[in-house]
Amino acid sequence: MYIQNQLAEIRAGIAAAEQRAGRPAGSVTLLAVSKTFPVADIMQAYADGQRLFGENRLQEAMEKAPQMPRDCRWHIIGPLQRNKVRKALELGVELLEAIDSLKLAAAVSRIAGELGITAAILLEVNVDGEESKHGFTPDGLRAEWDELTALPHLDIRGLMCIPAPTENPEGARPAFRTLRNLAAELRERGPLPLPELSMGMSHDYTIAVEEGSTIVRVGSAIFGKRDYSTTSH
Ligand SMILES: *Cc1c(COP(=O)(O)O)cnc(C)c1O
Repeated sequence: MYIQNQLAEIRAGIAAAEQRAGRPAGSVTLLAVSKTFPVADIMQAYADGQRLFGENRLQEAMEKAPQMPRDCRWHIIGPLQRNKVRKALELGVELLEAIDSLKLAAAVSRIAGELGITAAILLEVNVDGEESKHGFTPDGLRAEWDELTALPHLDIRGLMCIPAPTENPEGARPAFRTLRNLAAELRERGPLPLPELSMGMSHDYTIAVEEGSTIVRVGSAIFGKRDYSTTSH
């Protein structure tokens, strides 16, 4: 019941934000971030119609995905080691959201080519320039854009960001705007349509929708507080 109610609230929150921003209803996809939560919880979301789930660790996705109905779709939203790329693609992950370097992108393209597929990815951008964070800096992405877009077995769908935590949701707005403007600039430069912007989490997804997000990654607002004590996170 809890998960069902939370899902209803978030779907309504997304719809209201779409309307405020003058965006068409249904232009935002809700990714339910199920990391650390058991399959029983994910099944509750599934029973309520949710099909798209996100895990930040491939290992956890590999444990859970086979226990869920076949029509579930999975995104990997956390950092991916190069030696795990093949496993991720073999699992049939729909979107690798956190490709954070040219080296990793090149590895994904090469392995996708070996498997005879095209891999759908997002490029993670470090929007607030913190040294410790993953992702391309905006200037780094500009500099490597031609090499990235020339990789033959990738479908670069768009950009993703995880802004530094802020006290209130409004605080994330400038970071979301930075990502949106960068995507617009790269779209203009070509040659990719870059339809996806993955931004917004439990506390700020409505702001992200107002700023153009197409994928909001919501975990704790659906499933409750995460308990890291029993896992390796
Ligand atoms: C955990 C996680 C989320 C979801 O965070 P919540 O605050 O629980 O909604 C979103 N994106 C990434 C990359 C995450 O690791």
